Amino acid sequence: MRAADISDDLTEILVTEEQIQDKLQELAEQVLVDYEGKDLLLVGVLKGAVMVMADFARALPRHIMMDWMAVSSYGTGTRSSGVVQIRKDLDTDLHDKDVLIVEDIIDSGLTLSWLLENFASRGAKSVSVLALLRKPDAMKVHVECRYVGFDIPNDFVVGYGLDYAEKYRNLRDVAVLAPHVYA
Ligand code: 5GP
Ligand code: MG
Ligand code: MG
Repeated sequence: MRAADISDDLTEILVTEEQIQDKLQELAEQVLVDYEGKDLLLVGVLKGAVMVMADFARALPRHIMMDWMAVSSYGTGTRSSGVVQIRKDLDTDLHDKDVLIVEDIIDSGLTLSWLLENFASRGAKSVSVLALLRKPDAMKVHVECRYVGFDIPNDFVVGYGLDYAEKYRNLRDVAVLAPHVYA
């Protein structure tokens, strides 16, 4: 669906579908160069990163492998709890792998910093991060993110995979959720 279909629920469109696709194309070109001659495992963090993974992986003109992990640190609210729980683990042995974690958004950074440590402890050769969105003002821990799509203000956003109570993931753009929806 498009923002116009649910305009009462949104206050502002932050990133359009077209801007997202252009940015993913640009990031894919960088990743292509940076990982030349290396096998590359993309790890998508469910469920928010599903759209980013689908479009980013297809923007890459080379072979990659793909795996998924589900962690939770949010529940159905809009605040980070800081407690990370594995809900679905990887199928892949990370030993000696060059891993690129594909994320929807870096908010507090707590989920990613936990994941980076966890993947390093499994013996990955390298672990880097690609995040479509980042909220610099919300970060509680520093996370090295090699590929960032857009820095955005510290508002709760939905769309392009990002949900509120499991809804809005199928919105094509990224938009700020109107406070009356979750008040
Ligand atoms: P963290 O706070 O650990 O960096 O973010 C953990 C997860 O919370 C993100 O991967 C994302 O799924 C979710 N999250 C963080 N900020 C937002 C937001 O503004 N909107 C939505 N829908 N989810 C968010
Ligand atoms: Mg996520
Ligand atoms: Mg969520």
